[in-house]
Amino acid sequence: PSQPRAFKLVLLGSGSVGKSSLALRYVKNDFKNILPTVGCAFFTKVVDVGTTSLKLEIWDTAGQEKYHSVCHLYFRGANAALLVYDITRKDSFLKAQQWLKDLEKELHPEEVLVMLVGNKTDLSKEREVTFQEGKEFAESQKLLFMETSAKLNYQVSEVFSAMAQELLQRDDREGQA
Ligand code: GDP
Repeated sequence: PSQPRAFKLVLLGSGSVGKSSLALRYVKNDFKNILPTVGCAFFTKVVDVGTTSLKLEIWDTAGQEKYHSVCHLYFRGANAALLVYDITRKDSFLKAQQWLKDLEKELHPEEVLVMLVGNKTDLSKEREVTFQEGKEFAESQKLLFMETSAKLNYQVSEVFSAMAQELLQRDDREGQA
């Protein structure tokens, strides 16, 4: 069989919102206290969408302001981005809006599929950002939107499979054009 098509997906968002935890949950179905990511790292996972397989390269970074210095190729060639915030931290939601602007400076919005992800739904007592606020911001920017809990494994595989499915559809459309 031929090699599966490969897509690069980058994780963006403030520190401690759960970017590494989402990747770990998805790739290894594990949740534990992990050391902060230093520089940039990537994982690959082969995903099946119906009868087609594709390879997702999931890039994770420390998410610091200085990411450009350690990770200057981070955005290069990215096909997709998960813009992650923590539903218990309003500041991380506002910061996600800033990350979107940064992303759009580096890549053409038509070229990259973006999903806004509100993580840590298990901490609903401490919630500072409503589902509706997340959804409305996503709709205003034409982003996909989901809420997750990496801790409880809620909607994590759904996030990545929705991205994979949409990436394949876009790629097929471009192939035909
Ligand atoms: P990153 O800096 O965005 O990569 O965040 P991490 O993945 O390192 O997670 C930061 C902290 O939040 C860690 O202590 C994680 O265990 C915790 N965390 C991540 N996801 C969740 C979640 O869904 N629920 C809860 N309660 N904690 C989480």
